[in-house]
Amino acid sequence: MRVLLVEDHPPLAEAVCDALRRAGFNVDHVATAADACELSGQSDYALILLDLGLPDGDGLRLLPILRQNGRVPVIVLSARDQLVNRLGGLDGGADDYVVKPVEMPELVARVRAVLRRPGERADTILRLGTLALDTAARSVSVNDRAVVLGRRELSVLEQLMRSAGRVASRQVLEEAIYTLDDEVTPNALEAAVSRLRRALQAADCTVPIVNIRGVGWMLPRESGQ
Ligand code: CA
Repeated sequence: MRVLLVEDHPPLAEAVCDALRRAGFNVDHVATAADACELSGQSDYALILLDLGLPDGDGLRLLPILRQNGRVPVIVLSARDQLVNRLGGLDGGADDYVVKPVEMPELVARVRAVLRRPGERADTILRLGTLALDTAARSVSVNDRAVVLGRRELSVLEQLMRSAGRVASRQVLEEAIYTLDDEVTPNALEAAVSRLRRALQAADCTVPIVNIRGVGWMLPRESGQ
């Protein structure tokens, strides 16, 4: 899942990016309100983490603009710890309000909690046949035996399992594996799919990854699922 972090303090931004990436999220980071507006309209983010004190404006003013691009949940990150500020953030449309300094495990837990709320996905475990992916623990198993996957392979598998029975397009899968900092290579997606396929086959997984030429890839649903 893809998260947008809007934060102008480099050390904090780096710490948040690290923590979220270790938890399995793809993170794009921007440091200004202008960049946040531009990116949020271009990409499909699962959640936005928003600092309030930005060099080119107040994050609170950004909230309604970010919301115009769909009902993406927003967690405000702020050093403003007064009740009036917290109420302003929550009444302004934020889904949660985290006061700095931030403990990274708590921030990651709050991100997961917001993503679990009704209307968002409820279950952290995706299943297809003998294959199971725990989106919170970032673990995969086949027949209850753990399968170790790299970050990109895991992201591809998560996207394929979320759209099981339907084709996941090349664009959707590429968005799942890349972050802004990644160097984009033409065959990175193919390479990730073939590593994933080999790892699943080695684990005796019976769910095939089907290539739909020119369109994308899919995991077929078995009858009765
Ligand atoms: Ca700031």
